Amino acid sequence: MHEFSEMDRRSFIQGLAALGVLSVTPASLLAGCQPQKSEVGAERLPQVQSCDVVIIGAGGTGMAAALTAKAEGAAKVIILEKENTVGGNTNFSSSGMNASETRFQAEQGIEDSNQLFVEDTYIGGKERGDMALIEHLCDNSAEAIDWLDSIGIRLDNISQTAGTSVKRCHRPTDGSAVGKTLVPGLEKNVGQAGIDLLLGENVTRIIKEGDKVTGVQTASGNTYTAPAVIVATGGFGANFEMIKQYRPDLADFVTTNMPGTQGDGMRMAAAAGAELIDMDQIQTHPTVDQEHGSLIAEAIRGGGGILVNSEGRRFVDEMKTRDVVSAAELEQPGKYAYVLYDQQVWDKNKDAANYDKQGLSVKADSLEELASKLKLDAAALSATVAAYNEVSLSGASDEFGRTQGLAALTSAPYYACKVAPGIHHCMGGIRINIDNQALDADGQPIAGLFAAGETTGGIHGANRLGGNAVCDIMVNGRQAGRSAAKLAKG
Ligand SMILES: Cc1cc2nc3c(=O)[nH]c(=O)nc-3n(C[C@H](O)[C@H](O)[C@H](O)COP(=O)(O)OP(=O)(O)OC[C@H]3O[C@@H](n4cnc5c(N)ncnc54)[C@H](O)[C@@H]3O)c2cc1C
Repeated sequence: MHEFSEMDRRSFIQGLAALGVLSVTPASLLAGCQPQKSEVGAERLPQVQSCDVVIIGAGGTGMAAALTAKAEGAAKVIILEKENTVGGNTNFSSSGMNASETRFQAEQGIEDSNQLFVEDTYIGGKERGDMALIEHLCDNSAEAIDWLDSIGIRLDNISQTAGTSVKRCHRPTDGSAVGKTLVPGLEKNVGQAGIDLLLGENVTRIIKEGDKVTGVQTASGNTYTAPAVIVATGGFGANFEMIKQYRPDLADFVTTNMPGTQGDGMRMAAAAGAELIDMDQIQTHPTVDQEHGSLIAEAIRGGGGILVNSEGRRFVDEMKTRDVVSAAELEQPGKYAYVLYDQQVWDKNKDAANYDKQGLSVKADSLEELASKLKLDAAALSATVAAYNEVSLSGASDEFGRTQGLAALTSAPYYACKVAPGIHHCMGGIRINIDNQALDADGQPIAGLFAAGETTGGIHGANRLGGNAVCDIMVNGRQAGRSAAKLAKG
């Protein structure tokens, strides 16, 4: 009986997809594929495929880039993904996507401007970000929300994250984590657009001939040639060798990132001549469960949640940027805190049910019971919440200066998650311009090489605001796709 090799299975599934006879996306079916054999004389010889645009990484950036490149006229677009599943860290994006001057904000009476978004991003990034890149990000954010809507991904539930002046964090209608809607939605569109998405293809080298990038090579020995290559491989938040190299002080921290977040694209682009900038700018997130590295979304604080220490007291404006809140937490006894919220916050954040399921939260019918379960001083905890409620209800001034995301915590039951800082985001990476061309140390574009998303540096400066990464991957993923298609079409 004939047995299908991995190669046969791969071609078969892609063939069916091309004929439009699949009811599910080829990517889902290909999820079990292994990398193709590479040894000469073994089951298969290495393959050479020629295409118009090749994209390394099938996270949010890679899929947005592919869809845009295809829509802009690149005939053959291939995405190569080293894992056996799509989505990368984008799968886990929790709070949402920042965008300004959107129609959903207008419909909900939220006044915002691209200029205010620019200022928040620049100031939140400690005035280190590149202004041209920031303006490009913010000015194109509403277009990205509209584009997502046009392909069936509606983000019309608007919340607020720390360091932002107004509500601009766009989430799915039901308030669920953004990644869980974004990734399947993009994947479905990639399948429908006839884009080849190859799983288990670990890119190991960017090929350069003379001063031009001409393709990539994979661990399986395959070569993909193209006039335009887009690096969309995410950050290096799970590569502890690189963490030690750039930020030895973070070497013992947990990480929220998926294991594949290894900085591959940055190293390959650097080998092809790209400059890496701000590599020591690594963000810690203040609300990370230390056992599993699970994130408690910033939207919990944005919806009214507070932080208390082991004495049951608040210690910071919870809506300050992540670097400030992380540093304040590390000054508390035991270097940890609890995110405390009530049922009305829970109701607005669908992911809160997952915290309960995963055992990340402690639930109690009263603050006294919560204090008892957490072994906190009940009187101190009640006084803390009463003082915070007073600020939220009466508009009195808050002792820590909090003015954003205030909502009285009066709806039992109450919830608390034990948290401390964890490695979360790499602000540094491949240097780019607003066309997402990768730049060398002289600021000159490397012909044929583009980069977007967390693999790039320069936008978020010294601190990324919650919701700005998803904005980045959509706006810049699309821009990289546009620029690559333009080059491919000559
Ligand atoms: C838990 C968590 C919650 C977050 N929540 C939010 C949020 O609410 N809002 C927000 O704005 N940001 C959030 N972020 C940040 C945001 O999710 C990421 O910055 C963003 O998704 C990165 O997208 P990307 O496409 O650049 O990389 P990824 O989504 O990580 O995709 C990169 C892909 O490239 C693949 N790849 C890597 N190397 C290779 C290689 N050599 N060959 C082939 N493929 C390769 C990877 O396997 C991966 O699939 C969160 C991050 C985490 C970890």
